[in-house]
Amino acid sequence: MKNQIHFLEPSPLIKKFSWNNDWIVPFESPWGIFEKFKYANRIKSQDIFNLFGTQHLNKLKSTTKNKSARNLITLEGLDNTSLIKILNFQLKRHNEHIISKLTNVLPGNQSIYFHKHLRFCPKCIKQGYHSIYHQFKLMHVCPFHMVPLTSECPKCKMAFLYEITDSFTLEPFRCDCGYYLFSPKKGKSYSAIWKKNKKLKVTLEILMRWEKLNSSSIANKFHINYHPEIDLTNYQDAMTKILEAADLSTNTEQGTTHNIIKSTPLIRTLREEQHYRFIKRDQTKSIEETSTYDNTKEIYRLSKATLNSINRHLEKSMYKHKKCIKDCTSLYFFHSPKINWICPAAYAYVFWQVFIKAELKFICTNDERRRYNLGLYHSNYDFTHSQDITYIRDLYWWLDNHCDCKPSEINWVLKRVLIHLKMNHFNNWTRISIGGSNERRFYYEPPFKLEGLPFYLILIPKDKSLPLEFHFWEEEREPYLIIHSKEE
Ligand SMILES: [Zn+2]
Ligand SMILES: [Zn+2]
Ligand SMILES: [Zn+2]
Repeated sequence: MKNQIHFLEPSPLIKKFSWNNDWIVPFESPWGIFEKFKYANRIKSQDIFNLFGTQHLNKLKSTTKNKSARNLITLEGLDNTSLIKILNFQLKRHNEHIISKLTNVLPGNQSIYFHKHLRFCPKCIKQGYHSIYHQFKLMHVCPFHMVPLTSECPKCKMAFLYEITDSFTLEPFRCDCGYYLFSPKKGKSYSAIWKKNKKLKVTLEILMRWEKLNSSSIANKFHINYHPEIDLTNYQDAMTKILEAADLSTNTEQGTTHNIIKSTPLIRTLREEQHYRFIKRDQTKSIEETSTYDNTKEIYRLSKATLNSINRHLEKSMYKHKKCIKDCTSLYFFHSPKINWICPAAYAYVFWQVFIKAELKFICTNDERRRYNLGLYHSNYDFTHSQDITYIRDLYWWLDNHCDCKPSEINWVLKRVLIHLKMNHFNNWTRISIGGSNERRFYYEPPFKLEGLPFYLILIPKDKSLPLEFHFWEEEREPYLIIHSKEE
């Protein structure tokens, strides 16, 4: 019974702590600092909450300590005065400072740019060191050692959480499987190793440029935006690309073309009185109401205009499929025994149009249309951009309210983005069109999201004498449509 109590209860608090703030290394993460503190004092995460937790937090039972209390990005569960008193260190300020140095220029909530799982450098962790840089989603190598970052225990491949928790560890710096992430060699003191790490220096040039970009003197000059569903983790060189767009780097990757479209400066200074095509924002309405209702008509108009312009662009290559497209849209080809072959190019084209227009009249009979509840977006304007409508509305709101853009500017940006997204949807339909047409696959929603979307960036200088910029980077890709054309 005694034993059980010993294991279940947090270790008794030590009045005097084993701590030296020389152990704290530049750019060190709060996770690393707390692991060191637990390690040196042989205590658990529960003790961290007892020692540093806010009053509110310490009223909660240990089982109900929620996710936000363990959050190492906001440190919201921890009391600043206790941190300063015990660690003799401004942990919150240190954390905020590094986070903003990395994310000042990026849109949205800072915390989305940091991994939820612990990411670490295999070399740093051996010295008991973990940096906030390692958690940053745009970093793929350790800025001190240039080695790839990992999120797995080298032995059991399990991942840890970037939180204040003991759920995945036997003791500080030790995985549940028994593996020691940090363990000083015999005769060496952990204290000496930790102090030595003070000499670590960032040598990664791109990171230095990134921090320059994020410094307030530069970051305050413009707004940037890109698709929020783009997972920056999957874009190995997102950092380089953003730097390129802001003119702080010229390292274009091989096999990638950096395209820039600039608006005429005129649209930024244009006075719009007569031709105020947008519905002016109603100040008596809340933001939510405004963004969902007032711009519907304008988005509809823009979507239609961009689709028409892409169609003109595709006309040449689709011309020879004129008959195939007519077959697809008139004979209800999925069920018709009369057709034994469906042209993949026509298949791609028709499905692409269906999901942009959010209508099925192309390929279903009236009865079928009634039966299939497609869950597509419908409004007074049933010709709209169903796949991207939520994003486009958010972007509209951001341009209007956050960037204080004029209607002509909003118009310009949305057109660029809509063309970019629609072309990518088309590429995705052509990618799956051979298999799809062979098997006569019918889709009630697109079988893809943003796969293959070339990275893009909207750059809006606050200085109104400078043009708006739309940047996108094209990777070399397989020309699906050309393959089809050859087959026929
Ligand atoms: Zn390292
Ligand atoms: Zn392990
Ligand atoms: Zn054809």
